[in-house]
Amino acid sequence: MSLRYYLTFIDEEPQASPDAFGSRKRGASCPADFRSKEEVRSMWTEACREQALFRSQVAQLRERADHVRDNSQECNTLTAPSLGSVGHPQLCRRPCAHFAKNAGCPRAKHCAFCHLPHRHVSLDKRMREQLASCSEAELLWTLRPHFQRHALANPAAVGFQELLDRNLALHHPQPALPRPSQSWQLLEKRLVRLPLAALVGLCFRVSGHLPGLLQEQLRDFRTGDQ
Ligand SMILES: [Zn+2]
Ligand SMILES: [Zn+2]
Repeated sequence: MSLRYYLTFIDEEPQASPDAFGSRKRGASCPADFRSKEEVRSMWTEACREQALFRSQVAQLRERADHVRDNSQECNTLTAPSLGSVGHPQLCRRPCAHFAKNAGCPRAKHCAFCHLPHRHVSLDKRMREQLASCSEAELLWTLRPHFQRHALANPAAVGFQELLDRNLALHHPQPALPRPSQSWQLLEKRLVRLPLAALVGLCFRVSGHLPGLLQEQLRDFRTGDQ
């Protein structure tokens, strides 16, 4: 308790709280909402952010389910309808033009292209230009999480991820990646759906041994030598 001199009297210093905000009675029975507009706005922003996060998690789970379903149909050298179908849908070759026309392929089992139905997923021109404007390190670090995702879902993809990681450790320290513009987010979403063979193809412009090693790995896989 502190004292003060007030109107010729020595008086007790009034307490700052809760009387400073109104009557004690009201404060005790029904506390007023002292949150400022800024606080309310920031709570609202936080709630919206959480909701967006949940939505993106649901979308990721959906994509993961698609991925697992696709990989469960993978072809090996014994079950593939053509040579080019080995590894379908992730590591096979391009779809056979004869087969797409329903004309029947004259090379049948010996055809070098895939004889199974494909979901058409590719990068559009703008996405290809975006990747072409990246440095080698930016390109490989952008592709890395997608190689990892394949490796987690498919043991056949682990070798590709190991080759990439070894190359990154030796030659490309992680750069600051240019994100997260809307066009990059669209590109990332497309990369999620790209087959592993197409991701491997995107690494071929990198200098050094990596493209040759990846190609060798792909060839071994397709001929059943891995
Ligand atoms: Zn295929
Ligand atoms: Zn064919």
